[in-house]
Amino acid sequence: MGGMIETLLRGNRKFRGEYAADERDFLERLASGGQSPDALYIGCSDSRVVPELLTSSSPGELFVLRNIANLVPVFNDPDSSVGAAIEYAVVHLHVPHIIVCGHYGCGGVKAALEGLDKERGLPSLFEWLSEVRAAAENVDPALEPETRWRRAVEESVVFQLGNLPTYPAVASALAAGKLRLHGWVYDLHTCSLSVYDVNKHAFVPASALIPGA
Ligand SMILES: [Zn+2]
Repeated sequence: MGGMIETLLRGNRKFRGEYAADERDFLERLASGGQSPDALYIGCSDSRVVPELLTSSSPGELFVLRNIANLVPVFNDPDSSVGAAIEYAVVHLHVPHIIVCGHYGCGGVKAALEGLDKERGLPSLFEWLSEVRAAAENVDPALEPETRWRRAVEESVVFQLGNLPTYPAVASALAAGKLRLHGWVYDLHTCSLSVYDVNKHAFVPASALIPGA
């Protein structure tokens, strides 16, 4: 067996011996009681952006969908996996919040900014990332590359938020006042979150929004 796979399996043994042992009653209640998560979290597949870690969340709290560059294609896209997660979370689980969380340093956004020509030999990736292009085109091409990349990450989160209400399940929950949408960006260096402020049309530090931060 490969060394890495053995490490992962040993990791599960460690998890059972430590976290799962300490939280035995909580995990048993979750296992038999079913899930009732507080939010649908749509984030990037990037291995460095781990939703439960960066929000100190426990099992059962976040219903998570991760894909390359945290995209939400418009309703009726041929890829139904995002729509399936949205419909399940909103209609069956009644989540009161949907969070779209991007991150600075996102390779998917960078590839879209650079024109995707490198990905032509990878048809699925090419097709998927073409969803980022519209957001990338909204960013001033005269900006210095690093700033342009950061702006494109932010702009893409705003775009995905805008696509959410194209799903009838989201539109009706919003109209009923049962759902709120949130745009976040995570910074890999500082480990902090920025939050989209609709009125300012800008991302503000999360620390500005929480008492005692
Ligand atoms: Zn990413």
